[in-house]
Amino acid sequence: MARLDPELVPLGDMAEDLPDPDVAANLDEVRARIAAAARDAGRSPDEINLVAVSKLHGADRIVAALAAGHRQFGENRVQETESKWPPLRERFPDAVLHLVGSLQSNKAANAVALFDVIQTLDRPKLAHALARAMDRRGRRPDCYIEVNLGDEPQKGGVQRVDLESFVALCRDDLALPVTGLMCIPPADDEPSPYFALLAKLALRLGLPRVSMGMSADFEIAVAFGATEVRVGSAIFGPRTSPGAI
Ligand SMILES: *Cc1c(COP(=O)(O)O)cnc(C)c1O
Repeated sequence: MARLDPELVPLGDMAEDLPDPDVAANLDEVRARIAAAARDAGRSPDEINLVAVSKLHGADRIVAALAAGHRQFGENRVQETESKWPPLRERFPDAVLHLVGSLQSNKAANAVALFDVIQTLDRPKLAHALARAMDRRGRRPDCYIEVNLGDEPQKGGVQRVDLESFVALCRDDLALPVTGLMCIPPADDEPSPYFALLAKLALRLGLPRVSMGMSADFEIAVAFGATEVRVGSAIFGPRTSPGAI
């Protein structure tokens, strides 16, 4: 029988051979680390909302988190969420879904229907599309504005210099329910200065939610004032497809 050339086996198949992560135990550990980081920073752990980023993971792992009592989840694609979440929502109607990936304007209506928080509002065309979709559907998910603090052209997010005018457009002109800021710092930099800056900008703009920190750096984000941390692989294990951040 012919053997598969291991070089040609896609990462997805290899990841499926890994043992299943213990999602409930991982959640407990991440929660404990958040609580410890909060206490070290003189904050109450209750101020910090753990968003479990389940992108590219199957329903079984998400159900394990839901069964363990977790309710806040993040996904990065509209289509994937549309195919994965409706049956889960039916079983767990109090699940709260955050969109953490970039959103195309032509998917704004789908996103408004699916998500409870849209963390990646970052340009005027999308802001107008979301305002129209919310008016039409009568559903108003909270919006966070994503800020591109590292001036990285390949990444989404409004530029730092445009932030104040963009907040004014979204909040004042379009009456979008803008409640926070979100950032993904440059991968190779020390994240602390970016986290400190995002928290400062949110305070200055009167926005209560600050979404920052992922598996590698959520404790640092908590120290700098995160109200939402977005944690994927530390809860669900490695993702089963390449090409996703
Ligand atoms: C995937 C993703 C995360 C989670 O990343 P991990 O490193 O697996 O914790 C957080 N935020 C965004 C925007 C993501 O796309």
